[in-house]
Amino acid sequence: MTKPAGTHFESDDLTEVTGILESLMSVANDESYDDQQPEEKRVLLLGRPRSLKRWDIRWLERSGFAVTLVDDPEHSVLAAETLDPCAIVAEAAFRDSRRRPVYQSVLDAEAVEAPVIVLSHSSSETRDALDNGAYDVARKPFDWRILSRRVRQAVQIADNDAALEQARDSLRSAVELADRVREQKRTSESFEPVTGLPNRSKFRELLQRSATSITGNDNVLLVCVVSLNRFNLITEAVGAKQSDQVAFDTAGILRDCLQSTADSVQLESGLRTASVARIDPGRFALLMTVSPGAAELDELRRTIIERLSAPMTVDGQALYLSPCIGAAVYPTEVSDLPQLLGKAESAMREARSRGAQFCHHSKKVDEDIARKLRIENRLHAAIDNAELRLAYQPLVDIASNRIVGCEALLRWPQADGSFLSPAEFVPIAESSGLMVTIGRFVLDSACQQLDSWKRQGLDPIRMSVNVSKCQLLDPGFPDVVRGCLERHDVDPSLIDLELSERGALSPETNVLDRLEALKTLGVSLSIDDFGTGEAAIAYLKDLPVDVLKIDRSYIMELRSNGAESAITSAMVALGQKLNLTVVAEGVESNEQLAMLRGMGCDQYQGFFLSPAVSPDEVVRLLQNTP
Ligand code: C2E
Ligand code: CA
Ligand code: CA
Repeated sequence: MTKPAGTHFESDDLTEVTGILESLMSVANDESYDDQQPEEKRVLLLGRPRSLKRWDIRWLERSGFAVTLVDDPEHSVLAAETLDPCAIVAEAAFRDSRRRPVYQSVLDAEAVEAPVIVLSHSSSETRDALDNGAYDVARKPFDWRILSRRVRQAVQIADNDAALEQARDSLRSAVELADRVREQKRTSESFEPVTGLPNRSKFRELLQRSATSITGNDNVLLVCVVSLNRFNLITEAVGAKQSDQVAFDTAGILRDCLQSTADSVQLESGLRTASVARIDPGRFALLMTVSPGAAELDELRRTIIERLSAPMTVDGQALYLSPCIGAAVYPTEVSDLPQLLGKAESAMREARSRGAQFCHHSKKVDEDIARKLRIENRLHAAIDNAELRLAYQPLVDIASNRIVGCEALLRWPQADGSFLSPAEFVPIAESSGLMVTIGRFVLDSACQQLDSWKRQGLDPIRMSVNVSKCQLLDPGFPDVVRGCLERHDVDPSLIDLELSERGALSPETNVLDRLEALKTLGVSLSIDDFGTGEAAIAYLKDLPVDVLKIDRSYIMELRSNGAESAITSAMVALGQKLNLTVVAEGVESNEQLAMLRGMGCDQYQGFFLSPAVSPDEVVRLLQNTP
């Protein structure tokens, strides 16, 4: 019968049990042991209650042990299995109905893990108990100090074993976890999470691997870097979630393009392998093993540009990505494999700075890049040393032949007396972030010049100032303009800001608000290089502009009855319909001027009257023309 812990027993002679329980109590009283074992420990006694009459079990309770006496041999195994004791103390003479010692059945029970200490009267019992797997045996007369130590050890060793097993389990899970984490880390180190594409370092690995398959002249490695120029702007404007969507969709488009090329090229020209990677937030890379000069790849590049140039709709909003591609080939053009990706990226940047959408790496491109770097370095110094100047090209009213204004154009004198063309250094200044500073200088100098002419007593003329895209994108730009006007006390209606159709007014710039803010200052706005961009004409009527400047390329080609004259006259008519002042740029001959006059063009600018000249020369021209 199982008795609950703390039940009162009395015994005359089972002093062995008393001693063992005392020793267990000393274990329980051991403070360090207590610290490790805060929960209640149970000792299971298997024996006859008759023997326990003198035993006052309550003081065991006080010492922290729970004691359960089981006096029914048939229930002993079940009790040992279910009560989860820390130690079992069993009389050797305690037997079941088949005369089998109970401690043996307990030792045989698989679910019992507690150490079993057997109390015996004879040496044969002692031997049997040890042979059968008892943890320890105590024989009369007991030395309680030794026995107490043994029991304590038994309990501690059993606990240690359990702790060890637990530690082993934890270690096993920790190792598994570490393996999983390592695998995840390896994946995240190799793949970009938004698109699932290989990242830059993985791409380099792929390059390395593909390069080993390049033998002889049959194959080359082609790397194309596809950059979305407006990706950062998009992230700032619409948020990270949407730009993730853009990246994801772009990855899909690139895979598509690659797949369709693979389908069309494979057989003849041999596109052997191809992969796409996302190497930077707004930058992807394609790697292809192809036979040299595979013509279909031009088609691939065109398709990519075409598909990524179309506005991408994200959350109902049309986003322009402004894609640009740079390409490089190993080993025919770039012989050093580690440089291959970098060269394709430089080619991409070169395309961007030329305002183009594609550039293939070549020696010439390398030289151009080096030259640009040199110019950029010198430009920093030129700004510090105030080397930049403005020259002014007169603007003439065609009907009256009078100079009505001028355009301020940058001039950078070189040590050899020549001038470096702004067509060359302005794009460099734009890409290196210097154009905002230079633009301020131009605006301030132009206003200062107007003020200076006013002080000389000249009749006021209008001043056109070129504004680059990066200036217009700067939210502080209207304030810069206002500051210049105020500083030099300039009538805002004399200032005309020229915005290039290809640059500042390209459809993706989306600066309508900024244009409105400029208009409220009282300045007028021109569309510069009209006819060179694709889209301004589409939303021309919505732009708050006053002047249309027809690009020089159309005027250059003006011949009676030529196609260009039909286009130019259509442009003039369009401008007039929209109530804009139409200006023709680059007029070099009387014939061109006569044709423009016939078309009803309002003003012209060009070498026919004068190139850009010094302020004094402008005064001279003003005095010499009617
Ligand atoms: P643009 O704004 O289209 O300026 C007109 C360019 O055409 C000037 O070249 C001018 O000298 C040239 N030009 C004028 N009439 C004729 C002609 O009859 N025949 C020929 N062949 N050329 C003519 P420039 O001064 O070399 O400037 C080139 C470009 O550099 C400008 O084109 C403009 O885009 C940029 N630029 C110049 N100054 C500035 C500036 O202060 N700010 C900005 N953002 N860009 C500037
Ligand atoms: Ca201009
Ligand atoms: Ca122009």
